[in-house]
Amino acid sequence: MPTDEAVPSTGDRRFAVLDPATGEAFDEAPDQRPEEVDAAVDRAHRAWRGWRADPAARTAALLAAADAVESAGPELAPLLTREQGKPLAESSAEVARTVARLRYFAELDPRSRPITDGRPVRSEVRWRPLGPVAAIVPWNFPLQLASAKIAPALAAGNTMVLKPSPFTPLATRLLGEVLSTALPADVLTVVTGREPLGARLASHPGIRHVTFTGSVPTGRDVARGAAASLARVTLELGGNDAAILLDDVDVERIADRLFWAAFRNCGQVCMAVKRVYAPVRLHAQVVEALAQRAKAVAVGAGTDPRTQLGPVNNAPQLARVERYTARALADGARAAAGGRRLDRPGYFFAPTILTDVPPDSPVVTEEQFGPVLPVLPYGSLDEAVEAANGTGYGLGGSVWGTDLDRAEAVADRLECGTAWINHHAELSLAQPFAGAKESGVGVAGGPWGLYGNLRPFVLHRPEEA
Ligand code: NAD
Repeated sequence: MPTDEAVPSTGDRRFAVLDPATGEAFDEAPDQRPEEVDAAVDRAHRAWRGWRADPAARTAALLAAADAVESAGPELAPLLTREQGKPLAESSAEVARTVARLRYFAELDPRSRPITDGRPVRSEVRWRPLGPVAAIVPWNFPLQLASAKIAPALAAGNTMVLKPSPFTPLATRLLGEVLSTALPADVLTVVTGREPLGARLASHPGIRHVTFTGSVPTGRDVARGAAASLARVTLELGGNDAAILLDDVDVERIADRLFWAAFRNCGQVCMAVKRVYAPVRLHAQVVEALAQRAKAVAVGAGTDPRTQLGPVNNAPQLARVERYTARALADGARAAAGGRRLDRPGYFFAPTILTDVPPDSPVVTEEQFGPVLPVLPYGSLDEAVEAANGTGYGLGGSVWGTDLDRAEAVADRLECGTAWINHHAELSLAQPFAGAKESGVGVAGGPWGLYGNLRPFVLHRPEEA
């Protein structure tokens, strides 16, 4: 995965923020020092006392925060597009999702529960916040993922220090400013900078919960860092989701949906479709349907309203996409569409459909995280399920066909956290979100996400003194 070293310093403790549509710097952000993280954690501790005390005040503050973000949408969305690259409509949708998530968690209450086991003791489970939470997020959905950490943690009564990726620091800094108009001081602090800032935050002894979204290797580092203070860890990591097409699938009917499940946000989605398995009989038709769409899609700067697919976010990620594609082509794959970087400034890669790909090629076995999709043929359904499950990842998966009962039976065999039939990567705010295998540790989303930011506290009281 991309490393922070690729982010250029501009001296004077600032780093450059690049527009991926041009490859040029357009702004800067503070390159904060580890001591500034320490100070932010100290302040988060002090702010916790007041914030944890009054659930009704928290609800009111989070609802006001959601309103403030909604009002700031016209500023937030263009800034997000500029630093991330995604089309403006998708940035606006990301802001809307951020608002919805704040509102959802603002009104979610943990339930106290009596324990009834026949003893003459009244026992009750109550829920307590954990303390200052460290949140570290990647560059693909900076606002949406920041809010996925902020909303449940703050609703539960914790405070937070949040670090965005140095590839996309600006919209998150602005989000922090907007939220600070509705939240008490120091309940949320956004820090920006390059490594070792995240490592310092994850291993800080004052942090009680580390919630991280990013790649598997960095997730391992974060877990190691948090082990020093035995802080709780929630890890939302990479995926290599398979889509299995059944032999009764109506290819033309599902082709648009399948295409966008792989290519939305330029393929930079943890639960994008990253491999397609099609029955031998339909394989050529599926390749052709997807290739047609890949060739027709409007690629350009996210600021252009005609754009459907923006650039890859950053140079190291583009290099990874190029490397995996070149290796597949060298090993005998054929590009039915795309296959190369576009000859223009910025980090543009032609939407690519690969066929005849060796199943052990890195573009199949690893997470390409870009606009490249391998389509593989399968003989028997067992073979397809085995291939889909034959990876260390286990984030999502999908099955596509006309007979929904049969599709469901196949989906039920997928080793992942979420499976869809005739869709992919559509998530409800109310559902648990948890990767299987190396795709994650802990649960985010819905009430499970709230409880992930709380600890049970049990009070036993006798019936009589
Ligand atoms: P990354 O792991 O390189 O970086 C993620 C964050 O960690 C960034 O903020 C980075 O600055 C920080 N970081 C880097 N080294 C660190 C260290 N040693 N200690 C602490 N923090 C450190 O990931 P990325 O390239 O920014 O994002 C892409 C990855 O994120 C993909 O694997 C993708 O699948 C995954 N992702 C997962 C989900 C999910 O919910 N499961 C969602 C979005 C993205």
